[in-house]
Amino acid sequence: MRDIETIETVGVVGAGTMGSGIAQVSAVSGYDVVMRDIEPEFVENGLDTIDGSLSKFVDKEQITQDEADAARERIEGTTDLADLADCDIVIEAAVEKMDIKQDIFADLDEVTDDEAVLATNTSTLSITTIASATDRPEQVVGIHFMNPVQLMEGVEIVVGEKTDPGVVELAHDFSEALDKTTWESDDKPGFVSNRILMPWINEGVRAFDEGVATKEDIDRGMKLGTNVPMGPLELADHIGLDVCLDATQTLHEELGDRYKPAYLLKRKVDAGDLGKKTGQGFYEYD
Ligand code: NAD
Repeated sequence: MRDIETIETVGVVGAGTMGSGIAQVSAVSGYDVVMRDIEPEFVENGLDTIDGSLSKFVDKEQITQDEADAARERIEGTTDLADLADCDIVIEAAVEKMDIKQDIFADLDEVTDDEAVLATNTSTLSITTIASATDRPEQVVGIHFMNPVQLMEGVEIVVGEKTDPGVVELAHDFSEALDKTTWESDDKPGFVSNRILMPWINEGVRAFDEGVATKEDIDRGMKLGTNVPMGPLELADHIGLDVCLDATQTLHEELGDRYKPAYLLKRKVDAGDLGKKTGQGFYEYD
């Protein structure tokens, strides 16, 4: 079984928004990277995105030109899945469709070394179901990077039904080696992040559609009213509306109507646990 000391080469499947970011941060942290997409044009676009992003880091003097050049040299782009054969860990960041992810994982199971760890960057899909397409479900884990990968510190580690604890530890260690900070979620729809974020975005879209306010006022209201850096519509644009729709559809299929007040919320209020002002809410305050 792999541990962090044995990771040298990182495979990335998908050279889009997330895949190119994951490839970049891995290379900047000193790993050799093989990034695969289905068409040469998509691979080239991903490499161009990386070049542009590395240049910005150099312009801002966050890395030197030499460091950027060295990172770029460590990244190989390909359309051939067989080029991932020598990767110690592969992170899949292809489209958010279960059938496509399962096909990719079945192929990765064939081409990679038996000990390689297979990770998915899925936003909402079940790690356990993705892993079931392989003969090594204990080596499959969720490593869910946030967008933009180059700038966001957080990484969500998602533990599938069969994921080995050693692989979970490796996922945390690998993320930390990329200078990220992790949290862990069980394999439940949307995990921590999107289970909470996607209904928020969806309600923003619905509020706009129903004429509650202009899109600018919805975003401004949530930014100024709740102290978040982006409002729901702006954030949806940033994530990709297709990605948001795929995620929301999965949550809807798996979880149904999530908009009724939570039972626990009513019970806490009835109990007088109103939060900071009473010294007890979900947390206890002095
Ligand atoms: P994207 O559309 O930008 O990129 C997806 C890439 O995968 C495309 O270039 C596509 O050609 C490629 N692809 C499709 N099938 C492939 C295959 N069989 N092999 C290799 N490449 C293939 O999507 P994205 O925003 O980068 O999202 C990728 C994954 O990351 C999704 O699972 C998404 O849910 C997840 N994610 C997205 C965000 C976000 O904010 N965009 C954040 C966290 C996680």
